[in-house]
Amino acid sequence: MDPLSYSSPAAILEKTASQLGCSPIDKKLAFHLDEQDKLRHLKDCFHIPKIKHLPSVDATLVNEEEDCIYFCGHSLGLPPKKIKTYLDEELDKWATIGVYGHYSGQRPWITGDECIVDLITDIIGAKKEEVALMNGLTVNLHLLMLSFYKPTASRHRILLEAKAFPSDHYTVESQIQLHGLDVEKSMLLIYPREGEETLRTEDILSIIEKEGNSISVILFSGVQYYTGQLFDMPKITKAGQGKGCFVGFDLAHAIGNVELYLHDWGVGFCLLVFYKYLNSGAGGLAGAFIHEKHTHEIKPMLIGWWGHETKTRFKMENKLQLSSGINGFRLSNPSMLLVSALQATLEIFGQATMKALREKSVLLTGYLEYLIKYYYTEDKANLEKPFVNIITPCNIEERGCQLSLNFSLPIKAVYKELKKKGVVCDMREPSGLRIAPVPLYNSFQDVYKFIEILGSALTVTKQI
Ligand SMILES: *Cc1c(COP(=O)(O)O)cnc(C)c1O
Repeated sequence: MDPLSYSSPAAILEKTASQLGCSPIDKKLAFHLDEQDKLRHLKDCFHIPKIKHLPSVDATLVNEEEDCIYFCGHSLGLPPKKIKTYLDEELDKWATIGVYGHYSGQRPWITGDECIVDLITDIIGAKKEEVALMNGLTVNLHLLMLSFYKPTASRHRILLEAKAFPSDHYTVESQIQLHGLDVEKSMLLIYPREGEETLRTEDILSIIEKEGNSISVILFSGVQYYTGQLFDMPKITKAGQGKGCFVGFDLAHAIGNVELYLHDWGVGFCLLVFYKYLNSGAGGLAGAFIHEKHTHEIKPMLIGWWGHETKTRFKMENKLQLSSGINGFRLSNPSMLLVSALQATLEIFGQATMKALREKSVLLTGYLEYLIKYYYTEDKANLEKPFVNIITPCNIEERGCQLSLNFSLPIKAVYKELKKKGVVCDMREPSGLRIAPVPLYNSFQDVYKFIEILGSALTVTKQI
């Protein structure tokens, strides 16, 4: 199994362009790649915002009737059109039959969460029993840490990235404090090497090898939210577990973005979020994964009625029959509104495979990288020329859709110019612009147009 063995995008682009008799920077290539794209119909499943509705657009610079260039799926995916239909169905059901809605329709509310788990398993490479839908990501991280993090005198540390997402950082700090331990001693942070932006796998493995015996839990992101780096989850898992640590991943930026084989990789636990690459709507229902091999060892520390076996839950006898594995961690009944939204977007993923999406994604992001490097590589002989640095690893096996960019010019001014012309992306402190072409609804022409707009944004910024 080698899911990430794709051809080099630059080689494909150059070969395709030469077959067309043009250069890889020619607009003709973008048109051709879109024509050849077998997934392009999926774009029609989404609402794409029109430029005219966006704040901070300068109406004198754009054609307001056009769709915006939406490169922000890493933060909030676009709305599937079907969501409204499904929400309406549930609201109508509620209005017409009230409480009986718990047992009727396509999504009986009582089993709403369980009804749609099947749609997720292929996306993350998990067994149905290993996944539960519940709460928000941070809540789930706390719930899982309560069970996985059982510090002892000799094994009390948690290893995580120095620049982990703030919520993960705070969760770890507060879990350590909950056990009356000292954050300074028990939180082990791994930093990139001096002068580097991303972590080297060899350095991660070496810290695990060296410190593993004192580490209780290793928590990494799957794809790093700031740099876009995709970590080698199978290797980290194997190394950590070899040292007797539990290994978990926050997959907020990985799910729906890269291929995942959580079960086969033997990953201990994962946190799932569905409103980024999965398009379920801001703050939607989250999920969690626990590998079946941990079922007997790991039990929930906090119990609610939704953790009780479905079959006997409503006998109301107050004699707990705990669902096994992750399902025992559920506390409350699921929101039918959030379940409906999630179902609509998961069904779109059902029309493609992660393999096909990833294949398009590698080429789409590769095309973006190719054009950025072609036009905006630093020119030591011409220091006047603005340039763009790509922080994200150039190795396609170490990244997903997103490229994180630095500029030789003030980033805030560049960002402002991009927004004026209808590009939706985001800036993260201290100096990263995150650009994510998403294979579900972005095209090669989007990338081409973005590069044109970036060119004018850099020119304007330089003159300011
Ligand atoms: C988006 C994101 C979260 C979000 O947490 P919520 O609890 O859903 O608000 C957490 N972790 C990472 C790495 C994220 O990117």
